Amino acid sequence: MDAPDFRFFGNALWVDFLNTEPALPDGGVSNLIDRPEALVRWARAAGEFGLFDPFEPNERKMEEALQFRSVLREAAKSLLEGAALSKDIVAVVNEKLACSPVTSLLVEKEVGWDLTPRFMADKANALLGAIAADFARTLVSGRPDRLRRCEHPGCVMLFIDTSKNGRRRWCSMETCGNREKAAGHRARARRISAGA
Ligand SMILES: [Zn+2]
Repeated sequence: MDAPDFRFFGNALWVDFLNTEPALPDGGVSNLIDRPEALVRWARAAGEFGLFDPFEPNERKMEEALQFRSVLREAAKSLLEGAALSKDIVAVVNEKLACSPVTSLLVEKEVGWDLTPRFMADKANALLGAIAADFARTLVSGRPDRLRRCEHPGCVMLFIDTSKNGRRRWCSMETCGNREKAAGHRARARRISAGA
């Protein structure tokens, strides 16, 4: 199977996780995490696990991840609408945080020392914990008000707008931004040829 086209333009891990459900041309969405092995590839592409770390989630762990994704989807909907987050959403996030305790590890570097995080949970729980912590960070110290949905009508991608003026419109200039530019050119060309 070809590697699915994981995208990382969300400016937050939890948003990139939601973007594993891109739009299909027929208006539906596809699921890029359709098998445990895809979850592993996504986690590695997201930089959450080293390439050689053993991470072998089973079907049940993958289902748990997808359930969490649908809870985050609801959270994103509330944020986009400026609505309050339901207590249930907060409870699930806290549950994921509780299942992923992190301690520290003193590591000797070539020069000096480093204190790095060390996940005490199994890797699947650690991954969901990391996503939950990232969501919490957006609420606590990020810009939840800057969560946006790509303005292209055929796109469902989300991102946190970190631009200075807060006017980012597209998930990516290479795809949706260009599609829009091309549509604008075509519309102008039509108007000119119609003598408008
Ligand atoms: Zn888009």
